[in-house]
Amino acid sequence: MSKVRIVQSILTTLLLAGTSMAASSFEASPFEEQVLQAMRRVDSLRTVAPVLASALDGNAKSSPSEGQDALSHLQVGQSGIVSLGQAGQAAILESKAPGQGLAQLDLASRMAGNDLGAHWMICLSMIRTGSPLAASRAVQGLEASMLGQGWQRLPQASAWLISLADESPSREMADTLRTAAARIDPVSPVPPFAIARRCLARWDIDGLYEAVRITGLRLWSYPQNQLLLSLNSLRLLRSVGLLFSFLLFIGWMTRNWPWVSHQLAERLPQDSSIYLRYGVLAVGFLCILLAGVGAYAFFFLGAFLLWKHLTRIERVLMGALILFIGSQGVLTTVEEVLAKRFDIQSKESLRLRIAEESPSPQLLQLLKERNDPQALATAYMKGGDLLQAASFQKQLGNDPTGAILSGDLCFVRGMYDSASRFYAKAFAQDPQNPVLPFNRGQAASWMGHTDSLNPILKRASLAGSFRFEQTVSQNSRLFPDLPPSRQVLPPEQSAAQIWNGILAELSDPAVWFTGNAPVGGIDIPFLLLPWAALALLGYLIATSKPRNLARKLFRCKTCCRVMCKHCRRGLHCISCFRRLSNVSELELRNELLLRLEKEGQQREQFLLNLLDIVLPGTGSFSRKPSLIAALMILLLAASISMLLNLAGFLTRYPFSQASVGQMPFIALLAVLYGTNIALFLRKNKRTFLKG
Ligand SMILES: [Zn+2]
Ligand SMILES: [Zn+2]
Repeated sequence: MSKVRIVQSILTTLLLAGTSMAASSFEASPFEEQVLQAMRRVDSLRTVAPVLASALDGNAKSSPSEGQDALSHLQVGQSGIVSLGQAGQAAILESKAPGQGLAQLDLASRMAGNDLGAHWMICLSMIRTGSPLAASRAVQGLEASMLGQGWQRLPQASAWLISLADESPSREMADTLRTAAARIDPVSPVPPFAIARRCLARWDIDGLYEAVRITGLRLWSYPQNQLLLSLNSLRLLRSVGLLFSFLLFIGWMTRNWPWVSHQLAERLPQDSSIYLRYGVLAVGFLCILLAGVGAYAFFFLGAFLLWKHLTRIERVLMGALILFIGSQGVLTTVEEVLAKRFDIQSKESLRLRIAEESPSPQLLQLLKERNDPQALATAYMKGGDLLQAASFQKQLGNDPTGAILSGDLCFVRGMYDSASRFYAKAFAQDPQNPVLPFNRGQAASWMGHTDSLNPILKRASLAGSFRFEQTVSQNSRLFPDLPPSRQVLPPEQSAAQIWNGILAELSDPAVWFTGNAPVGGIDIPFLLLPWAALALLGYLIATSKPRNLARKLFRCKTCCRVMCKHCRRGLHCISCFRRLSNVSELELRNELLLRLEKEGQQREQFLLNLLDIVLPGTGSFSRKPSLIAALMILLLAASISMLLNLAGFLTRYPFSQASVGQMPFIALLAVLYGTNIALFLRKNKRTFLKG
């Protein structure tokens, strides 16, 4: 095992530990449960037909006749096991010669039927032992079964396929798996994005263009992707901004702390070193943060203390940070409104679930408890219980989605004329709706109006025509005759409607008074936070002139320490004065002066270099605030936040997606820390050699 591999596996383990802790609060998805069941069935196959089971695991060493023999001994009644046995035999045949096992594989897929777990095990075995063609056929079986039962997507399976592709040594197999991942999850932009990254690495411009196009179309056509992207971008923005502000504050604090706290430090016991007294005060200030006064009070108090020590440009930056801190309430409220759409209990996310999932008994139970006629009618329609579905039709709302669902219910009962009237009504209200073009097209062609298909497609929105093409291609590829759940698409909201809904929610003042920000021990409504920030900024700008404290505090000409009129002895601070006063000879005195100066510089350099190692950029920033140092801090804040947030940046995929795009940020962090440590070692080489 190479070192890179070891580091990679340690990182992955850490990531997995972190994310699985976060994920453990969710129950296993229906698909995951089916996979677990299938794994148990493979275990029982291991006792009945070990030859086939080990072939399924990837050790296809037995001869085809042995496999056939074991297969004939399996009981026909246990169809779950028989399909897995068939897959084992297909794996044996495939391992002898690619393409040999395809017929056997088709048999296994057909026998697996509605069992998505068995389909997944078949896919796995073909990925391990079969040719890319066989793997692609196996995934096609999974896709047909999933769509046929009313699933729109299997995000977990898609995520697993992408990580299998990343591990696959064969380039052809990896490409097949990535394409398969994009089919198993036709909603998320992540699989086409994974393909785009691969194409970019190979300079495959045509492939890159196509993959980027599909990524964009998926973002555009499925509003849930836009919501997720906005929510995660907002989270990322806040996290980068807060971390950046915090690090800059540390830099400013380190630079200006002697000026801020010198007069207070004078009142502490005089016999301890001035640096110790500064340290005690700094710890006291940090305790304010830990004591629960809250980050907002910490930032505001810090800004108040620092303001008069900053230069004009620094003040502009500080002002921007104060405003950013003040806007936290607004950003958090927007974030909460967006996040509510993904709350498992919310009406919107249940409607989305029934559009994306096959109606399992558990999901139906959940919908019955919530008693949302639209979700229930969709569930019964997808499950094929048309009478029950129709009983909800009168309760459906007058909105476009209600009209689409009424149209769907008419369509599945064969009333195409009424269906197309409902669709036309929905189209008049919401021409952007993504499912309308397909459903209208279906109604038109079942009425025999094939000539009206073209006008419908011409008036379709971009999202609508993408969904039309996608559905038609899935249906024609996978189904000789369409199951009821694929004949028309269940209703979905268009992106415009969803965003309008969110804007409407945000314009309700009640939303703004629910969240509280702790400031100085009291909770103030989020709405007051921006005003507090504006008031502080106004006060700071109005009251201070640049660096007006020069009359009270001075710098020691020798060691550069901050001093006041009490500890000042002429040009020197009290400590330099004492050391110099014993030496009267001019030459010795000058020598000592030089040494003191050097010592003072070295002490400061060492501390700031050390700070640079812990938080790259912060030390340089406190030595001399510059754009480059601030940029370095921003890079640090951005890469830490990206690493923490990327797991769910584009998608709610489980952990295996966590590694998408994280490598560049780990590399960036490594470069930041590496350069700073190298600089530190080079600068302090002599100190270490002496030691
Ligand atoms: Zn001094
Ligand atoms: Zn003093």
